[in-house]
Amino acid sequence: MKKVLEMENRVIPIRMLHESLSTTYQLVKGILPENGIPELRIALHAVKTALERNLEKAREGLPVVGYHFAIPGEYLSCFECVPVCLEGTGYYLSTLLLDGVEKYYDLMINWGHPFHTCTAQKGPMGMALDDLFQFDAIFAPTAPCDNTCASYPFFELEKKFPLIIADMPFRRDQRGYEYYAEQLKKSLLKLGEIIGQEPDFEKMKKHIEIENKVQQIRLEIFELTKAIPSPISNIYNAVSAGSFILVSGTKENLSFYEQVLEIVKERYRKKQHHGGEEKIRSIWPYMVTYFDMSLCEWLDRELGMSVLFDIFNYNFAEPVNTESDIDTMFYDMSKKGMGWPMVKQSTDYYYASLENCLQMAKEFSADCFIYTQSIACKQFGSFPQLLREALMDELGIPMLLIEFDVGDKRFTPLKVIKEKIKLFTQTLM
Ligand code: SF4
Repeated sequence: MKKVLEMENRVIPIRMLHESLSTTYQLVKGILPENGIPELRIALHAVKTALERNLEKAREGLPVVGYHFAIPGEYLSCFECVPVCLEGTGYYLSTLLLDGVEKYYDLMINWGHPFHTCTAQKGPMGMALDDLFQFDAIFAPTAPCDNTCASYPFFELEKKFPLIIADMPFRRDQRGYEYYAEQLKKSLLKLGEIIGQEPDFEKMKKHIEIENKVQQIRLEIFELTKAIPSPISNIYNAVSAGSFILVSGTKENLSFYEQVLEIVKERYRKKQHHGGEEKIRSIWPYMVTYFDMSLCEWLDRELGMSVLFDIFNYNFAEPVNTESDIDTMFYDMSKKGMGWPMVKQSTDYYYASLENCLQMAKEFSADCFIYTQSIACKQFGSFPQLLREALMDELGIPMLLIEFDVGDKRFTPLKVIKEKIKLFTQTLM
């Protein structure tokens, strides 16, 4: 028993996350009607169930492998391990814990990590500093930002967790994709050496195939969002990001999207809006708040503002070819990784993102954009202003810029965010 507990204690934040998901799920299931916020209920159940399995694996003593969110999680299914998405865990906890995870940001700042770094990494770094994580290895790419590259060495230098880095090139062409494919393969082989396992690429294929189906469904949901009123609830964006980052490649992730698609189709057929009446259609080209997801419901119900999608819900990859040889599969895995949300926007010139935003604004009949800018994303420093000008000049669509931190409620409190949006909407009516 002592041994089992010791093993589970290597992933205390996952246990915290599982417990808070379970409690929230019970509340949502017990208090809200069946049609309350179904996407939230289904996501809580899916992620909680997949994490239960991971906790069981931890108790069995399987190696714990941390991964950066820009590595599609299903790539780790070639190992018998406990996969832990660092950023996903920190941000989901910031949503679910009553006091958030600011304590861990502060631990890192007091340790000497710069205040202006990203809370996506700072949260799990603080948890590791507090010995809540014991990783056998950590796997990350050199993307999407300098912030990632500068933060991850902490795990190796301070905590002595072996760190494997896949070098992502700048160029987006055949040569670039081949290079990153090679990097991914080498990294998985190296990871295998560290944890004492041969990667089982046949097994990985099965999980990639699950994600191919998931992508298809997510695309269908995305297409249906063009309808007026939008048939998705705003909170779908947040829980969808959480699900595909935390438990990708699992049957629970697939089940989540299958169930959501049915709900979305039903609303589409009935021309129903989750909040009652859609008054404003907004696109959030970056992120929604994680420290308090109630903002999503407030926008839906109080303002009648639909969030058509955020950054995690408008990037789609081609299905990975699993039928051909292993190199083809890795080539497609590479393309998928290099087109990953936030990676795509951060590692390419701005033109592509600007054009994409303009195109989506037209296709999805957007009334406005809301750009949430984090101090950590320095590579985006000048992008919001360019986007604002392009949207206004080309389409006459206004954009609100809010400086905030997705996971730290102290930066811009929810009350201030709401006030800014409320004032902005008055200029739209
Ligand atoms: S791109 Fe921005 S939000 Fe994403 S990990 Fe880097 S600093 Fe954080």
